[in-house]
Amino acid sequence: MSDIQQELSNHGMETFILEQGASIVGVADTAYIKNYTSEYNDIISIYPRALSIGVRLSDQIMDKVINGPIKEYEVHYTEVNKQLDNISEKVATFLTSHGYKALRIPASFIEDYHSLQGRFPHKAIAVLSGLGWIGRSDLLITKDFGPRIRFATVFTNAPIEAGQPTRTSECGECQVCVKACPANAIKGTKWSLGIKRKELYDAKACYKHLLHYKKQLGDLICGICVGVCPYGSVKIIRMIE
Ligand code: SF4
Ligand code: SF4
Repeated sequence: MSDIQQELSNHGMETFILEQGASIVGVADTAYIKNYTSEYNDIISIYPRALSIGVRLSDQIMDKVINGPIKEYEVHYTEVNKQLDNISEKVATFLTSHGYKALRIPASFIEDYHSLQGRFPHKAIAVLSGLGWIGRSDLLITKDFGPRIRFATVFTNAPIEAGQPTRTSECGECQVCVKACPANAIKGTKWSLGIKRKELYDAKACYKHLLHYKKQLGDLICGICVGVCPYGSVKIIRMIE
């Protein structure tokens, strides 16, 4: 294998991305996206692969969000998004410098509050990469960090081997986020691949509650469902044992 092939092998790419500060990396076959939406067909036709890049949130901060949002979380969330944007920029540059196409999608934030949709479903790419599943909370849950992680995506035509999509939930009988949500927005349904978001969670009820927090903190943040999930939280596991 040449040096360039070695660098672009899955192991080479993963090592490079982790060295830039990522906590987790996966690769999705973009052909799977067609099964769920036609919205990204133009991207899929050019880019057969999508790199899912995650950076974990600080446990020290997330453990404080269990009882309600704090300003520190909002600041940290923005910082982690910036870190992801820097990493994904380096990854895109790395790929293009090797002669491949790359399209970088920055870490998501809700831009369209009318439809209450994020700009790009990074968590769908993470699921299709096999990095985790969608929890009852509609958050992407990874085994190592639970929902305490943020994602960015880099589409590419580099010949990288893709992972297998996650198809079922590993929430088990857990209902911790359902009980903790102050807006009763989490319906308690267990996710499986293809299920619609509205079956899991009431985005409008959540948003209404975020407006309530905005009056207190000046920002649309909550994070309780991120903080309380036993996956990724040693503190919560201790509390429910
Ligand atoms: S962000 Fe807060 S209000 Fe929204 S679903 Fe999570 S716990 Fe409920
Ligand atoms: S708190 Fe429990 S039910 Fe909610 S996402 Fe985490 S594991 Fe799943």
